[in-house]
Amino acid sequence: MIYQRSSTLFAAAKNVIPGGVNSPVRAFKAVGGDPIFVKKAKGAYLYDEDGNTLIDYINSWGPMILGHAHEPVVNAVIEKTKLGTSFGMPTEIETKIAELAISMVPNIDKIRFVNSGTEACMSAVRLARGFTGKDKIIKFAGCYHGHSDSFLIQAGSGAVTFGSPNSPGVTKGTAKDTLLAEYNNLSQVAEIINDNKNEISCIILEPIAGNMGCIPPAEGFLEGLRKLCDENEILLIFDEVMTGFRVAKGGVQELKNVKADIVTFGKVIGGGLPVGAFAAREEIMNHLAPLGPVYQAGTLSGNPLAMAAGYAMLNELNSKSEIFKSLQKKTEYLHKGMTEVLNNRSIAHTINREQSMISVHFSETPVTNFKTAANANNETFKKFFHGLLNNGIYIAPSAFETWFLCDALSYKDLDKTIEVIDKTVQTF
Ligand code: PMP
Repeated sequence: MIYQRSSTLFAAAKNVIPGGVNSPVRAFKAVGGDPIFVKKAKGAYLYDEDGNTLIDYINSWGPMILGHAHEPVVNAVIEKTKLGTSFGMPTEIETKIAELAISMVPNIDKIRFVNSGTEACMSAVRLARGFTGKDKIIKFAGCYHGHSDSFLIQAGSGAVTFGSPNSPGVTKGTAKDTLLAEYNNLSQVAEIINDNKNEISCIILEPIAGNMGCIPPAEGFLEGLRKLCDENEILLIFDEVMTGFRVAKGGVQELKNVKADIVTFGKVIGGGLPVGAFAAREEIMNHLAPLGPVYQAGTLSGNPLAMAAGYAMLNELNSKSEIFKSLQKKTEYLHKGMTEVLNNRSIAHTINREQSMISVHFSETPVTNFKTAANANNETFKKFFHGLLNNGIYIAPSAFETWFLCDALSYKDLDKTIEVIDKTVQTF
């Protein structure tokens, strides 16, 4: 496939936008080459500026769970736009999406809408600190919770690729309140809590990690964290920016039957528009301004277009809950197909999967945390990525990202993908 116009557009972008992109992973730095410029997308397909069609396994990094330009979502936005795009005043649709989200997700009474996953996680931690009166937080190496200062300490996703886990600009003062643990290592968390008695406000984690590739929680890990939190008056924050409304109607809380104290959302909840949210039981949420002392605000928060897109998306998922099962089956099919092909060609690999999140690490040993993910062979991943791209399959341009399947993918698309993988790895 030819990506000439994309390269020309990238060159122009680099003159006026740092690195040519508005979010670092898009620049293909981890895999080399120039990024693809998209013209439009529909269903499971991306149509780029060179006239190529690509099967999309990223889906805008998660939001487009029903495929691109899904009609009920697009129509909701068009209709809302005609009424005005922003008021900075309350609108009914905010209450409607809040009621719907609360009815779908367990253990939450109130929800506040923001504009991104970063804002959601940043605000959730501030709320946890305000509620508990304690300053320190525990996060896990390789988990990404957005780019706010407290989280840029051994973060996953682009922060790994760019080799700056402690970004310049994050002060030592901020960093000292973020305590780091290894994902899936419960005894280490217990030790950290012991060493910081009565100082820890919250533990934040991706309850299924997606920012070091896909890494599921080990058996008992989430339950163990819940117990440690209960014993030590620590709030458990599930960052469900990726998993919320994706792995189940009620997210990981429902899927794994573990209760979180605060849950953060992004991606799917906005139907492809810039939305984040955080939610908890009433007692916690009532600490937020204007009811309580913990301040949090946003000029465009609860924006009517964003709320209309999110409401249409959640309505679709709520009324067609078989979608989660169908997505899980498609992902399982892809998993089986890939395993067969990679085994036939004797390529050392580990595939991790949870519902419609899946990723491949070129590693002989299981990938259960950041260290084991980082040990995988990145040179093989680069060849794999470009082999797929040259044959019309678009996966995440980094091994430290999960793939997201959308319901618009057909079994024919999955068969084509498996065929392309077979063709690609033959040349390894
Ligand atoms: N949390 C998780 C788990 C994420 O994956 C992301 C983004 N990929 C974020 C938070 C930050 O969201 P945003 O990019 O919308 O700020």
